[in-house]
Amino acid sequence: MKKRIIIGNWKMNPRTLEEAKNIYKSTKTVADKLKSVSVVMCPPFVYTSTLLNSRTETTVKIGSQDAYFEEQGSYTGEISPVMLKDLGVEYAIIGHSERRSKGETDEMISKKVALCLEVGIIPILCIGEKVRDEGGSHLDFIKDQVKNSLNKVPKKNISKLIIAYEPIWAIGAKEAMMPESIYEMSLFIKKVLSDMYGHDEGISTPILYGGSVNFRNALDIFNKGKIDGLLVGRESVNITGFVELLKTVDTI
Ligand code: PEP
Repeated sequence: MKKRIIIGNWKMNPRTLEEAKNIYKSTKTVADKLKSVSVVMCPPFVYTSTLLNSRTETTVKIGSQDAYFEEQGSYTGEISPVMLKDLGVEYAIIGHSERRSKGETDEMISKKVALCLEVGIIPILCIGEKVRDEGGSHLDFIKDQVKNSLNKVPKKNISKLIIAYEPIWAIGAKEAMMPESIYEMSLFIKKVLSDMYGHDEGISTPILYGGSVNFRNALDIFNKGKIDGLLVGRESVNITGFVELLKTVDTI
């Protein structure tokens, strides 16, 4: 059975290493018992080493919230995918809307995705429109975003890619997107990928949904949205809520 992927984006939380260890430990205890869900936690980079070193046998993977597009050099403050790989990090969120809003472009994102894939880090490419109108312009926007973000990725490297569809208006909001619309978008993204890389590649690329997911709406999102996984923001650092979400999804 193909496992559902649940990725926790901790964003800039929590405030202390002790709290980070607590969230990690509590989540891991539950995550290790799940049958149909695989869990990736993306803490702030400063906590990564400690969490990786505290790992005993576990199925939980660690991801970063970004990765730079050069392997090494004079790039103050940046962290390269090669360094992440060396540390034991397996995934990297790339192109999150909170980074795009600070000036990250599709061109930078395409280089980041390509380098991650080359060095063996699984990129979780975030895409999503800011607004929607009745004319459906968001579809062209998403198509361009996918094409531009992947224009440096050859077909041979595409099998490791994960895409997280996160409409910006649904991030940090009260309500998630309607599951029926999530389904529509996931099919649309798979079609764009199929046109770029071929049918099999398009169909097999996991498409995740992100935006105000919690344990109350997760089941509906999976059942009606028919997605391959979730990218969870705020709820991923709420121990009780996240653990409940994982258990709920494991019942599907
Ligand atoms: C996110 O930041 O990727 C996200 C989905 O946030 P939230 O779940 O808090 O809306």
